[in-house]
Amino acid sequence: MALLDLITGTLRESAGEPAALLEPTADDAVSLAAASASGGPIAIRFPAFGDGRGHSLSVKLRERHGFKGEIRAVGYLIPDLAPFLLRSGFDTAEIADLGEIETWKAALTRIRHNYQPGFRNPQPLRRDASTREAEELNLRLGTIDRLPDRIAELRRSIEGRITFSTSLGLEDQAILHAIAEQGADIEIFTLDTGRLFPEVLETVELSELRYGLRIRLVAPEAAEVEALVARDGVFGFRHAVENRLACCEVRKVRPLNRELEGARGWIAGIRREHSDGRSGVKLAAWDEAHALIKLNPIADWSTQQLTAYIAEHNIPVNPLHARGFISIGCAPCTRAVQPGENARAGRWWWEHEEKKECGIHLNPRREGKAA
Ligand code: SF4
Repeated sequence: MALLDLITGTLRESAGEPAALLEPTADDAVSLAAASASGGPIAIRFPAFGDGRGHSLSVKLRERHGFKGEIRAVGYLIPDLAPFLLRSGFDTAEIADLGEIETWKAALTRIRHNYQPGFRNPQPLRRDASTREAEELNLRLGTIDRLPDRIAELRRSIEGRITFSTSLGLEDQAILHAIAEQGADIEIFTLDTGRLFPEVLETVELSELRYGLRIRLVAPEAAEVEALVARDGVFGFRHAVENRLACCEVRKVRPLNRELEGARGWIAGIRREHSDGRSGVKLAAWDEAHALIKLNPIADWSTQQLTAYIAEHNIPVNPLHARGFISIGCAPCTRAVQPGENARAGRWWWEHEEKKECGIHLNPRREGKAA
């Protein structure tokens, strides 16, 4: 098995078995002290996608037990984890698929030490400044009523590239309208997962014609999709949450991360009403995972406000909404909702509510996810 040195980005052969192997459940002082006393290397296992407990173990080994030796990540690892492994004190990662090595290295170069606190950069001075900048913008946006004025304010406030990820849903169509009204210099794209409803693509064209702009379609890596389908099957995401998260990871999260690379602002259409998990969403917040300001310019809107805005401006909408679809994602994973159900009830309806995110709006550091 090959090891990627996360600090230098170089590959080397594993020099034998680790001195200690910690499962994510070994989160107790006795186990950690014993592992630390072994002198290392200490391997920490990641059993599944989305299980971030290994990061906590590594941080505790470093901070509480003063462990200075090698900490190695093993198990279910994906390239997007690389910067987070490094930040939580890992030195090496065991690479199962050497075909992914370039993706791993590319993920490592996404690290912005100055923004992010962690074991190797404990004084995140610029992160403090960025967090403050985002909080100030959040307050300013909250004092502005009109959506186009919010768009103008966020464009004025953020230097550099701002990008807008649209799913062509009602929220995103309202934001698109406001961006077009302002003529704001903001990139617009949608994630073309390969599983979209035809109506979504029709809405892309309708919007382009109405506003005279282009909505870029961003596709996943073909090789990654092929490998995923070969492993899990064409509808593998129906059979296990891990499979579903892996599908969203390949078709959404990784393409999104590539698009966000180098951006200073990211606009999305999240609203607090969508679900309990989104009830605390801000108009602007520092997104540490992507090192940019995440913007949800209609986070505080009610559904009534949204539908009134759409009607007032005769904004083109996805025809599926008229058939009971509210939050629209990929065709096999979206259904119409029943009266009284919340907007997210039609997404991955076979799963528990608390797991129903695709990963693109989760902060991996905070949530322990690999998004
Ligand atoms: S929503 Fe469904 S089809 Fe689309 S990426 Fe996620 S699991 Fe795959």
